[in-house]
Amino acid sequence: MSDLPVCPICDEGHLHARSEMIEVEHAGHAGQIESLYSECDECGSETATAAQMRDNKRAMIAFKKQADGLITGADVKAMRQSLGLNQDQAARMFGGGPVAFSKYENDDVVQSEPMNNLLKVSKRFPMVAAYLAREAGVELKDHSHLVASFQSRSYVSSALGSNLSGVRESLRLVAVSNSDCFELPDEEYQHAI
Ligand SMILES: [Zn+2]
Repeated sequence: MSDLPVCPICDEGHLHARSEMIEVEHAGHAGQIESLYSECDECGSETATAAQMRDNKRAMIAFKKQADGLITGADVKAMRQSLGLNQDQAARMFGGGPVAFSKYENDDVVQSEPMNNLLKVSKRFPMVAAYLAREAGVELKDHSHLVASFQSRSYVSSALGSNLSGVRESLRLVAVSNSDCFELPDEEYQHAI
């Protein structure tokens, strides 16, 4: 007895997972995504299981996000994890509803343009993430991780690179060095971290 699914067409053969690269196009961008399907070893029918259809849909949404210049699910997840947040905390900070981040990260949905912009700004300016966390009552567990992540992108001078204890000063310099016109008043940034 095989534990493979029985073919719904002939009811005799078993379904074997297959995949192929297919050409796709979105907003003038052409590319390839992996398409999953199942092939019956008896009648040769090709079908897709519910799980395969879900994964195919996710692959297409991920491609669309890339084509539209939006943050992909994988990048949303990496960003959330770099802040030391679980999905529920991220939703409380950024909005979108309780299961929003699960949907973004799995490429089940395309995040709205405002949400995309909010995530982009928070990634670019750690002060924003820190501020939103405070407003939402979410604790960013590991400040040094946050600072290290931005240091790795050369947002602060290498002289500060080994001084992770200077979290506040580093974050202030991050804010100042990123833009001539972006400078939080002392009291504001003290609150934000
Ligand atoms: Zn069959």
